[in-house]
Amino acid sequence: MTKAIGNLNRTRELMEKYHLRAKKGFGQNFLTNPTVLDGIVKAAAITKDDNVIEIGPGLGALTEKLAAAAGQVVALELDSDLLPVLADVLSGFDNVTVLNQDVLKADLPTLVKTEFAHPERPVKVVANLPYYITSPILLQLLNSPVAWAGITVMMQKEVAERLAAKPGTKDYGSLTLAIEYRMDAKLAFTVSRRSFVPAPNVDSAIVNLTPRKAALATQPASEKQLFALIRTCFAHRRKSLWNNLKPYFKKDEEKKAAATAVLEKLALDPQIRPERLTLDQFIQLANAMGEAGLF
Ligand code: SAM
Repeated sequence: MTKAIGNLNRTRELMEKYHLRAKKGFGQNFLTNPTVLDGIVKAAAITKDDNVIEIGPGLGALTEKLAAAAGQVVALELDSDLLPVLADVLSGFDNVTVLNQDVLKADLPTLVKTEFAHPERPVKVVANLPYYITSPILLQLLNSPVAWAGITVMMQKEVAERLAAKPGTKDYGSLTLAIEYRMDAKLAFTVSRRSFVPAPNVDSAIVNLTPRKAALATQPASEKQLFALIRTCFAHRRKSLWNNLKPYFKKDEEKKAAATAVLEKLALDPQIRPERLTLDQFIQLANAMGEAGLF
């Protein structure tokens, strides 16, 4: 088997051999710290029973660790210049498939069914994400019908803090709620910018998402309405809940009275900032607004 590539010397060697420069536009920051790579695989709790989807394998540093730990790995890489490197680095493994695909355009349920020999086994996503599309990737994973057994991903530390934020804090927002709706989020560990080549200008963190253990206290009547309401409420963070709700009644006095009644019924102060509302309060608000014909 080839030498492990997740270190500075081997990364430089490979980049030289293949005349590569990290492409900023593709969010390429290659991990060169073996301790971090092992830590990601450990945080994801990968076993030989697992199917793993890796997003953005890059030069294959994380891929080879995943291949050693998992049953099967399917890696999606957008940059076709990296395919020869990956074929070289991963030649010793027979359980890895690299697909030249944009993850945002991938049909994940079909991919799981067609690429994995045992699609019924747990499917986990593991990645050092391209940071420029962190939120779209997370939302795509969350909105996918695939029942992820886990999502363990590295991202900018500031974004990681938003994922696990508590109500009333500046980091709490629609991304936090989209995650909390389906998954339990845990910040696994932080990673210095010095662990990458080239070094990004921010520090990073690994977030581990697992399916929610506790059932939702209230079920939403409509997920679509719930998330539309959440997006509307966070459109102007500094405004009150009442002012953020205005698009739902505009100048219609009847609807305005209905909205007032909804807030009274739920004992919600119209002057409260939306960022203070818990997920359950948003669900109750969306349900009550739906019943009052406000959508
Ligand atoms: N996994 C490698 C590592 O840890 O060293 C590379 C991580 S690098 C931060 C992100 C990788 O995602 C790059 O290889 C980049 O080319 C790839 N990438 C960027 N946009 C992508 C997309 N839309 N779909 C799939 N891969 C993408």
